[in-house]
Amino acid sequence: MLARGRVSAVDSLDEVARQVATCRLCPLSKTRTNAVPGEGPGDAKVMFVGEAPGYSEDVQGRPFVGLAGQLLGELLESIGIERGDVFITNVVKCRPPNNRPPRVSERNACMPYLERQIKLIRPSIICPMGNSALSALVGRRSVGEAHGKAIEKGGVLYVPLYHPAAALYDASLRGVLFEDFKALKILIGKR
Ligand code: SF4
Repeated sequence: MLARGRVSAVDSLDEVARQVATCRLCPLSKTRTNAVPGEGPGDAKVMFVGEAPGYSEDVQGRPFVGLAGQLLGELLESIGIERGDVFITNVVKCRPPNNRPPRVSERNACMPYLERQIKLIRPSIICPMGNSALSALVGRRSVGEAHGKAIEKGGVLYVPLYHPAAALYDASLRGVLFEDFKALKILIGKR
């Protein structure tokens, strides 16, 4: 088995997914139903990264298939992008019990899988969704301040967005998300 986070000549998204499916590197392995490695084309231009799987994702083993996922689908549709054209994943690949925020130790244990996915896909644009993904990928803490503003880092454009789940609890964020997706469409067109 490859060491986590180590990319060898034989590494692939399938290999990452296989390792995630049987991973026991943090305590979330004991409570998950299914690990959720993420899905999308290996040459996706755009990656969306959330915090962690929720209930529906844990049951199905697929990312963003609950209500937040439905909203993500609507947002993508609003700018003419099909879900199957982008890669969708999370910082932490297993559901924390009762959807509590992942612990720093869990995030650190899981982060090498995301780093390998990014290395393999080499997207032009990565959209961290929510504070947790923003902090893990860009080192900033407040998506309220950073959303919709592109940040260039290591040749990749990061476009922070509110997590769609946030808009399920605060309806005012729904409009903000649709506006940020319009801006994202323009940025995608330029890359
Ligand atoms: S959350 Fe990540 S590190 Fe923890 S068991 Fe799941 S795949 Fe492994």
